Amino acid sequence: MSQETLLGIDVGGSKIELVAYRVAASGPQAMEAVFRKRVATPTQQLSAFVQAVAELVQEAEDALGLQACAVGIGLPGLRDGQTGLQISSNVPCLHKQPVVELLEKRLVLPGQNRRLAFGNDCQCFALSEAHGGAAAQARSMFGAILGTGAGGGFCADGRLLRGAQGLAGEWGHMAVPARLALHYQLPLVACGCGLQGCLETYVSGSGMRRLHQFFTGKICEPAAIAAAAEAGDAGARHTLDCYFDLLGYGLAQLVLVLDPEVLVLGGGLSQMPLMYQRLPGAMRPHLFAQVQPPQVLPPRFGDAGGTRGAALLVLPS
Ligand SMILES: [Zn+2]
Repeated sequence: MSQETLLGIDVGGSKIELVAYRVAASGPQAMEAVFRKRVATPTQQLSAFVQAVAELVQEAEDALGLQACAVGIGLPGLRDGQTGLQISSNVPCLHKQPVVELLEKRLVLPGQNRRLAFGNDCQCFALSEAHGGAAAQARSMFGAILGTGAGGGFCADGRLLRGAQGLAGEWGHMAVPARLALHYQLPLVACGCGLQGCLETYVSGSGMRRLHQFFTGKICEPAAIAAAAEAGDAGARHTLDCYFDLLGYGLAQLVLVLDPEVLVLGGGLSQMPLMYQRLPGAMRPHLFAQVQPPQVLPPRFGDAGGTRGAALLVLPS
């Protein structure tokens, strides 16, 4: 059976990781990692960043005796659809720079036929869980990340839906509905995206902390809030009731627009068992009476799927 080697590169705030995967030409279900290397992310100098990525690719190809492998790169943040500039707050040297253009110039030499693809961490997560991950058996899936922020990606028949500007899946920046904001008397919080009252500011990991501080004055990590609620703490229970109402609403909107067969959670909060116990029930009041909420599944690869998902970006879509 013929095989291809794909290089997946996951760019994080502190580390750049490259993993080379051997993939059968018949499909990416079985991806065998055949080379891996991590280096610290150069965060202050763009030329050093481009150089670090190029060196990783060269090192992998030398080690494997290959040339011009297809490379998928997961970059932090978003790419401005009009200017092509990267919007990336956690790696300063990439912010407002033509990162994709520079990497293309550096990695595709004249006369070379290298395939390159770019995406963000949310898209890589969704692709990785759709191919051989928690949603491997589903025709369509939404991968919802609940970590520092709230983002995600939608895959149908294994293909990632990116949208015209690569924005598809950015559900965290939908606004909290007025009826819930009024019911819980929520403050309208300024979001990093420039809008106010985005769901992300309430339903991400930091959002849960914010809600708890707003209701009780206490600063607690999500796991501690869940433990306090379990022990009968009324404040923690109220925080979680509000949290799941808001998150149930947000995910129900995804169901109404995309109707995914399964939802796979990622990010730090995906490790809380409470998510899987409460979310299907929390979505139901925000859906029509006859609509069943989709299955909510824990991730198979989670954050470790970053390079896997990046490698999958180069598949035709
Ligand atoms: Zn926002």
